[in-house]
Amino acid sequence: TRKIPLDDDIKDKLEIIARGTAGFTGADLANLVNEAALSAARDNKKNDKKTVTMKDFEFAKDKVLMGGERRSMIISDQEKRTTAIHEAGHALLATLLPHAEPLHKVTIIPRGMALGLTMQLPIDDKHNHSEPYLKDMIKVLLGGRIAEEIINNGIKTNGASNDLERVTDLTRKMVCEWGMSEELGSLTFGKKEEQIFLGREISQHRDYSEDTAIRIDKEVKKIVDEAYKEAKDLLVNKRVYLERITEALLTSEVLTGDQ
Ligand code: ZN
Repeated sequence: TRKIPLDDDIKDKLEIIARGTAGFTGADLANLVNEAALSAARDNKKNDKKTVTMKDFEFAKDKVLMGGERRSMIISDQEKRTTAIHEAGHALLATLLPHAEPLHKVTIIPRGMALGLTMQLPIDDKHNHSEPYLKDMIKVLLGGRIAEEIINNGIKTNGASNDLERVTDLTRKMVCEWGMSEELGSLTFGKKEEQIFLGREISQHRDYSEDTAIRIDKEVKKIVDEAYKEAKDLLVNKRVYLERITEALLTSEVLTGDQ
C-alpha cells in the first residue's frame, strides 16, 4: 500500500484487512490494493476524494473474493425478503453464539452466484478448531434455513443448499476424521489417499464395515439434529431481533457486525 495515498481512517486498520484476507498470495494482495485504488479513483471523479479509504478496501475485497456486485439482477420483492430473512438468521447466530467467529458484515446485494452473504472474521489465523467452535459453526450455517422456516411458516427454499453441503461435510469430518463422536470414539474411518494409479476411487477405499457405515450416518444425523434444535430454540427466542435485522437489511442492503 506504500504507493497509494491511504486515508487516515485506514492506517491503523490494515490489520483488519489482513485478517479478512488470510491465504491471499502476494499477487492477490496486489490485485486487492489495485482494485481499492480504482474504486477510489471512480469516487474521486464524483466527490473529489483524494485518498483510498476503508470503504474502497471493503469494496475491493468483496469483488476479489466473491465476484462483482450484480445490482442489475432482477429479484422479486418476495425473493429479496426471503434472502434478508435467511442472512439475518446467519448473522444473528454468529452474534449470539459464544464460539462463533465474530460477524463482520451481512448483505443482500447479489454477487456471483449468491443472492446474499454473511461474512465472519476469524480472530486469528486458526488452524486447530475446537469442538465447541465447530458446533457453533454448524449452527451458524443452519441459521439461514432455520430463520426462513420460522418467519415463513415452515416453508423451505433451495437457497440453503450450499450451507447444508458444508454442514454435512464438516460433521462427517468431525465423526470420521477428528474423533469427535462419543458413539464411535477416537478412531478414523475411511482412508483418504487416492490410489489413482490403481484406478480406484476414494469411495471404494472404505476400511470399515457396513454396520459402521450405518452408525456413522446415524451419528452425523444426531450431531446435525442437535445443532439444528439448539439453533432453532435460540432464534425462536430472539425472533424479535431476527425480524429487526431482516427489516434493516431490506432498508440498507448492507449491515456491519457492529450495526
Ligand atoms: Zn446461507
